[in-house]
Amino acid sequence: MKAWVLSEPAPVEDAPLQLEQRPLPQPGSEQLRLRVHACGVCHTDLHLVEGELPQPALPVVPGHQVVGVVDALGDGVTGWEMGERAGVPWLGYTCGVCSFCHSGRENLCESARFTGYQADGGYAEYVLVHADYAVRIPPAFSDAAAAPLLCAGTVGYRSLRLSGLQPGERLGIYGFGGSGHLCIQVARYWGCEVYVFTRSVEHQQHARELNAAWVGVASETPPAQLDRAIIFAPAGWLVPLSLGYLRPGGSLCINAIHASPIPEMPYRLLWKERTITTVANATRRDAREFMELAAEAGVATQVQPFPMRAANEVLQQLKHGRTTGSAVLIVREN
Ligand SMILES: [Zn+2]
Ligand SMILES: [Zn+2]
Repeated sequence: MKAWVLSEPAPVEDAPLQLEQRPLPQPGSEQLRLRVHACGVCHTDLHLVEGELPQPALPVVPGHQVVGVVDALGDGVTGWEMGERAGVPWLGYTCGVCSFCHSGRENLCESARFTGYQADGGYAEYVLVHADYAVRIPPAFSDAAAAPLLCAGTVGYRSLRLSGLQPGERLGIYGFGGSGHLCIQVARYWGCEVYVFTRSVEHQQHARELNAAWVGVASETPPAQLDRAIIFAPAGWLVPLSLGYLRPGGSLCINAIHASPIPEMPYRLLWKERTITTVANATRRDAREFMELAAEAGVATQVQPFPMRAANEVLQQLKHGRTTGSAVLIVREN
């Protein structure tokens, strides 16, 4: 099979991914093999390829928003059949016995393994996944449309959950890319008013089309106090700014694997029981709940498709903010 392989991290301008011919992987016990149709491209892939994530299992095939069809079953697999459509998310394995795993926070498991980082991912014609971590894809979504739901959407959904957003509340979203444009649709489905802060004129237009109550840049004061806020940009300076727009008792959720330092700020911005939380990864429950919710709410993903051969180019475009919506590698047309 053909697979894009990262052997040595480097700036994406140097095209660090190499297209290799590899033997077809054989599913081990409790594993599925998928014939890959589409794989979403995530900012985390960019961090991985450029060497910003610690201890990747090199050489590794990136890609953790994989949609395909089950084409081989390992021993002991139950609940999946040949030919069924399945998705592979970022969370690929957890220990199942630690305190995090036991308390519904398997996303924090210290023995977790992540797809396209510690196990080969979906920038390839075939991928293996532990059957318990594969996600069912609702028929409402095409392969390409489903791919971004597996990370951008699922992690966005976890951010909505952890922000504590209640139906009818006012939500601020900072940064309006892959996750933001999916979150707003869920929030609107819940009857929330959404205030979107983004510099990109294209993203501002997209937010208006998705019925944002207000659209502006971060330095503009929104016309109402916000109940919750989610930051999707890796920009620490947004923290004091967004706290300034939150009502007492409101909450801020930061969804970034990396961010620039948070500037010193006056305590009054946080006082009155405002809270800050961060999101790291997502659980299987997040993925399954979000998939069903996205189908029920009619969430539309804005997909920018790329041919499989363009993996390095997609990462370059992503780095320089030249993609719109969610970039997806089309591995196999069907
Ligand atoms: Zn991701
Ligand atoms: Zn664990």
